[in-house]
Amino acid sequence: MGKITGFIEFHRAKQPYRPVAERIRDWRQVMLPYPEAELKTQGARCMDCGIPFCQQGCPLGNIIPDWNDLVYRGQWQEAINRLHATNNFPDFTGTLCPAPCEGSCVLDIIDDPVTIKAIELAIIDHAFEQDWVKPLPPKVLTGKKIAIVGSGPAGLAAAQQLRRAGHEVVVLERDDRIGGLLRYGIPEFKMEKHVLDRRLDQLRAEGVTFRTHAHVGVDVSTEELKKDFDAILLAGGACAPRDLPVPGRELSGVHFAMEYLTQQNRRCEGDTIPADHEITAKGKHVVIIGGGDTGADCLGTVHRQGAVSVHQLEIMPLPPAHRAPNNPWPEYPHIYRVSAAHEEGGVRVYSVSTKRFTGDDQGRLQGLELVKLEPVRAGGRLSFKEIPGSQFTLPCELALLAMGFVGPEQPGMLQQLGVKITERGNVWRDANWMTNVPGVFTAGDMQRGQSLIVWAIAEARSAARGIDKFLTGTSDLPAPL
Ligand SMILES: Cc1cc2nc3c(=O)[nH]c(=O)nc-3n(C[C@H](O)[C@H](O)[C@H](O)COP(=O)(O)OP(=O)(O)OC[C@H]3O[C@@H](n4cnc5c(N)ncnc54)[C@H](O)[C@@H]3O)c2cc1C
Ligand code: SF4
Repeated sequence: MGKITGFIEFHRAKQPYRPVAERIRDWRQVMLPYPEAELKTQGARCMDCGIPFCQQGCPLGNIIPDWNDLVYRGQWQEAINRLHATNNFPDFTGTLCPAPCEGSCVLDIIDDPVTIKAIELAIIDHAFEQDWVKPLPPKVLTGKKIAIVGSGPAGLAAAQQLRRAGHEVVVLERDDRIGGLLRYGIPEFKMEKHVLDRRLDQLRAEGVTFRTHAHVGVDVSTEELKKDFDAILLAGGACAPRDLPVPGRELSGVHFAMEYLTQQNRRCEGDTIPADHEITAKGKHVVIIGGGDTGADCLGTVHRQGAVSVHQLEIMPLPPAHRAPNNPWPEYPHIYRVSAAHEEGGVRVYSVSTKRFTGDDQGRLQGLELVKLEPVRAGGRLSFKEIPGSQFTLPCELALLAMGFVGPEQPGMLQQLGVKITERGNVWRDANWMTNVPGVFTAGDMQRGQSLIVWAIAEARSAARGIDKFLTGTSDLPAPL
């Protein structure tokens, strides 16, 4: 513990961001690094409380109190070694994680928690600046071959673990570029793609092979995979979107959030979108249906494209400013949050439901008919009742459906393999991360449902150990779950 009285002396400092007026004119990352001197002070706020609930709050089991102390002491090399021991990609999580660890920080009981996520990012940024992040190819090869389907954070973390254990690893991705939602879901202004690309360079240098345009179940048969590889990891994500089947859904101008976000990510990569496929908010009244993080990513994109107005609708009521009694510490706090995109503008509307989309005689979206809701709790279950007379309309030429995802896409690969599906629509697995099909494993959103990067990495590390054990009878790979 660096400074015994640090948590009394110092207050939490806010993560620096670029000014709104500047950042909404470009696509560059909005978050700025913490100044190093300030970080040491923030690290000194860690109380080294004895039972590190933060470490349990992190799905990866990151050894947080250790690196808080090491940063306070300026021992950066030791800090990155400690961080890489549990997390393949702290650059992704340090930038994008919603930091459930901070909700579990003991200081959060009486004060603001330690800035754990910012410290994590500073450690890995410092390590890249010092050129300490090197490829670690295996010294001994096992001769076993593993196919990983999907190149999101789960596929990438599993590839790194399995390659370092000495296996031949091929990642198959149906898209034209590697990265999963890190590439085509998460906007550039949240994490610039060069952060992903430098990790892909590291993986290639370690000996991982990537194959794009390889849609398993379509271009690549599952039988072929089973024949050519000793084990398969299904890390295909959970991107089947939840739809809104109300009248007018078929009008032009109503799109799923991922169609919209993918297009903008492609533009940022330098691609040209054909005019007849283009979805843009420029000069339009926009409504985003869904108040979550995907909706917020749409919001930031809409601002940058130059919309006339933007509303973000949420069916749930406005969350409380502080933890509700049924959401105690150390649970993740379900409270009102203002993301960077919300700071940039737009109107958030709570307790509202869409009755219909309305259009012109050419089939083009013109507006939304909405109704206000009140929550009804019966027998512990939450439902919603329309408030009579509360109907209202919003002008809208672009509606983006960001109401979450229903699970992995089942036709194709999953059906061909015959893997068992859980009641929630995800891929079933046993305690060793294997599906009901021998030699076929799963990790990430494909088995958990749409979730977080930190969970995808954590599960991938555990599944990698399961695969390593399956192939060699034993494993030294760490498994957080
Ligand atoms: C818009 C958006 C923003 C998000 N923002 C954040 C955030 O800020 N922080 C955070 O922690 N989480 C965020 N998430 C969630 C996070 O991105 C996911 O939980 C995470 O990417 C899951 O990783 P994964 O590897 O399991 O799957 P994915 O990242 O979904 O990758 C799966 C990959 O598998 C490929 N694939 C699927 N089927 C096949 C097949 N048959 N053959 C070949 N390839 C296939 C897909 O093309 C895809 O590239 C966000 C999600 C969305 C949608
Ligand atoms: S990965 Fe997320 S939960 Fe874990 S220490 Fe980092 S910010 Fe916290």
